[in-house]
Amino acid sequence: MSVSINELALPGVQKLRPYEPGKPVEELERELGITGIIKLASNENPLGPSPRVIEALQAQMPELARYPDGNAFQLKQALAAIHGVDLNQVTIGNGSNDILELIARAFVGTDNEVVFSEHAFAVYPIVTQAVGATAVVVPAKAWGHDLDAMAEAVTERTRVIFVANPNNPTGTCVGGDALKAFIRSIPVTALVVIDEAYFEYAQDLFAGYVSASEWLDEFPNLLVTRTFSKAYGLAGLRVGYGISSAEISDFLNRVRQPFNVNSMALAGALAALADKTHLAEGLRINREGLAQYEVAFETMGLDWIPTAGNFISVDLQCDGREVFNRLLHEGVITRAVDNYGMPSFLRITVGTADENTRCIEALKKVLAGVKKND
Ligand code: PMP
Repeated sequence: MSVSINELALPGVQKLRPYEPGKPVEELERELGITGIIKLASNENPLGPSPRVIEALQAQMPELARYPDGNAFQLKQALAAIHGVDLNQVTIGNGSNDILELIARAFVGTDNEVVFSEHAFAVYPIVTQAVGATAVVVPAKAWGHDLDAMAEAVTERTRVIFVANPNNPTGTCVGGDALKAFIRSIPVTALVVIDEAYFEYAQDLFAGYVSASEWLDEFPNLLVTRTFSKAYGLAGLRVGYGISSAEISDFLNRVRQPFNVNSMALAGALAALADKTHLAEGLRINREGLAQYEVAFETMGLDWIPTAGNFISVDLQCDGREVFNRLLHEGVITRAVDNYGMPSFLRITVGTADENTRCIEALKKVLAGVKKND
């Protein structure tokens, strides 16, 4: 009997389009044989990690033969104190991505629907499809989440609603009042996941921003995710977390790998939390970098989406992927977002002042040679 492996994979997985990560610098070096490449593609922190993190990692190294603390006691204790919640309301993940996947695996079945917005973070459709559930994609409003339409899309089959606040790749943000009213309007039969991967930047940039973590007492079906990958500069370590009711956390913990977060990541994250000065410096670099892009786009006559993150999506009025490809040849890695339904846009992560200047100059050069959309 001849069987195609394609038929053996689960139906949802057969149709899954894998996540397209930012292109690594080393890969582009190999492909083009050029050096001095800058990467502004994955919303990483150009400042890097705090020196305290490096120290903590060095101190942790001799313990590498041992398994990590599977309950992540110390990190959970620190996070529980910051958020004013109990330890059993915190779930630690291998990046916040891990938490998003755990939610789908623990709560979403093949009969369920998962609601999220058009142009929302690409992991939501992936985790939905991987468990064989139905994605309900709600059209965006002015590039952002249309919360009224999302609430209307909820049915008795809806088990999870993902809201990225701010959203990636658009950078759009929802204010506290609107968000809270939205969460209140959702029946408890659906979990509301507020993805706050860019929380620190949003708090710095967006007046009226409120973390949904402040309302955990009111909503037993609420889960908030955060990460150490962005403002804390630890994307390579892979550590994030969810905070929720203890009941939700209990179910996430049942399906997670016993040692999903490694010992270096646990030690690094704990040390990162203690360095407020470093965090503030990263936010300052981001604010100044965003201003550089806004001034440049203004002079170039380009529209951009106001952002509450450490990245900015700009409308190039031409084929964004072509510009992305040409920028690679200039040694600048950005992100094409055609796969997010934004073919004329480019998403640029805010880098250091020098990196931003280089990116802007390369963009000017490339745009001069590209055909504009009619
Ligand atoms: N949510 C959003 C909105 C993101 O942009 C990202 C990173 N691109 C993540 C979650 C996941 O990040 P991590 O797994 O590194 O925490």
